[in-house]
Amino acid sequence: MSQSTFKRNAHIAYFKRCLAVLPQAAEEHDVNRVTIAFFSLAGLELLGALDRTARDGWIEWLWSLQAADGGFRGSPIPGPGHIPSTYTALCSLALLRAPLDRLDRSGLMRFLRACQAEDGSFAPSPGMPGAFQNDTRMSYCAAVTRAVALRGGGSGGRIEDIDVDAARAFLGRCRTWEGAYASRPGVVEAQGGTTYCAVAALSLFGRVEENGETTRWIVQRQLGGFQGRPGKLEDVCYSFWCCGALAALDRAALVNSPANTSFLLDAQSPIGGFGKAPTDFPDPFHSYLALAALALTPAREELGLKAIDAVWNLPPDARDYLLS
Ligand SMILES: [Zn+2]
Repeated sequence: MSQSTFKRNAHIAYFKRCLAVLPQAAEEHDVNRVTIAFFSLAGLELLGALDRTARDGWIEWLWSLQAADGGFRGSPIPGPGHIPSTYTALCSLALLRAPLDRLDRSGLMRFLRACQAEDGSFAPSPGMPGAFQNDTRMSYCAAVTRAVALRGGGSGGRIEDIDVDAARAFLGRCRTWEGAYASRPGVVEAQGGTTYCAVAALSLFGRVEENGETTRWIVQRQLGGFQGRPGKLEDVCYSFWCCGALAALDRAALVNSPANTSFLLDAQSPIGGFGKAPTDFPDPFHSYLALAALALTPAREELGLKAIDAVWNLPPDARDYLLS
């Protein structure tokens, strides 16, 4: 384990600052807002510091994002639902333990069906042209959303499912000659983040076909921390994407954890949070994913972090809350 001290209190202060600069006002346009809220809430939860006594404003704001098409938007401005915003809104509601009586589970599935293209991929929003956005990230967020939709069983009747076989086939076509996954079919180079999304989505859709090639490609991405592609530098977010994918493949034991933990702790900022690598300025995305990566290591308990379900990218109790 690294000599670096875990800067727990600084990380708590960092995520609280991120939430404080996110106004909950209805005129806010920024679709990244719900994503930054999720990273900050989830970071505080992993640190055991999420204060649910002041949650009502956040919960009302999250419900204001629910769109008529059944998905969630990234901002309260009227418009279509958006698959990644739907994923982060659902996760945030679970982290806050929001009463889910307003959740339209059959609407979630209707929304996913409207986003699914004939080739099995998902557009970010219904009727959105341009297949270049239909990537493994959308498939992953759709797979989590579908799991949430199915668990509730709808209002009395059965929910008509998406085309799961087509969704799986699309992900299969994203697999490259290297054995890992690119963002979409035809993209030559596999990448750690898109590999995580594909493996986790396939796991949620039933099973991952793996003959050892995906595992080998991911394991070869470890330098100390992980790189996203061959020839690239380490970046803390790939410690989560790569170790999360290995955990989803039941191969987490292949990680050199002391080296990975050491790299992650070295990327802590003195003001709290994590940059993408040591000496980089912190941002909410890398700060949360670094903590999530640390939560997947054997150092987790020593660091006082909550456990995480690698496939859902949520603590198991938050996952179960969405499925209850
Ligand atoms: Zn990164």
